[in-house]
Amino acid sequence: MAARRKIQDDFSIRGGTQRHDPDGNALCMAAGCEAHAEYPAPRNKQDLRNYIKFCLEHIRCFNQSWNYYDGIEGEELEQEIRRATTWERPTWKFGTGPGQKSGYQFDDRFGFFDDSDPASSKDGQPQLDPEEAKAWALFDLPPSSDMQELKKRYNALAKKYHPDHNQGDSKAEELLKEINLAYSVLRKKVLDLNSPAA
Ligand SMILES: [Zn+2]
Repeated sequence: MAARRKIQDDFSIRGGTQRHDPDGNALCMAAGCEAHAEYPAPRNKQDLRNYIKFCLEHIRCFNQSWNYYDGIEGEELEQEIRRATTWERPTWKFGTGPGQKSGYQFDDRFGFFDDSDPASSKDGQPQLDPEEAKAWALFDLPPSSDMQELKKRYNALAKKYHPDHNQGDSKAEELLKEINLAYSVLRKKVLDLNSPAA
């Protein structure tokens, strides 16, 4: 297991809460990294709702290390390590592939939206469907958020990624589409949750 140890040693996550710079931008939670962080991920598999953020380089490291907890072993694990260490892109869950959607950073980067995952269903936590879980992750909000928090966050995100503020950057535009989609998902969830049982 020498290779496995190496990858995990290369990447450690800071303790404590999400760091920000003086302007309020999230800073990468990988130890020793001071880059801006735009890629949310759950801190660990036991605490899926506790999101922290990473830079692109470290969300890739995170995805790689996360995959080691998917119960892969032996030869399959060795193969995955080889892939993870030689490919210049995020790893993905087994059984899925690079053809998903646009390859953008929200494509199942958690790798845990998996029915076979025993960790997510035995602790009495209500299960989020993958679409909703991704939407909360994108909004960087806990799933218990109310409509006011959701709206506030949406307004901030929509403003941040609006084409007018990003010189027509196509990634920002793509992200804005994701944000709009996520908002419609979350809005419906929150409204359903709070509507009186009439
Ligand atoms: Zn980083």
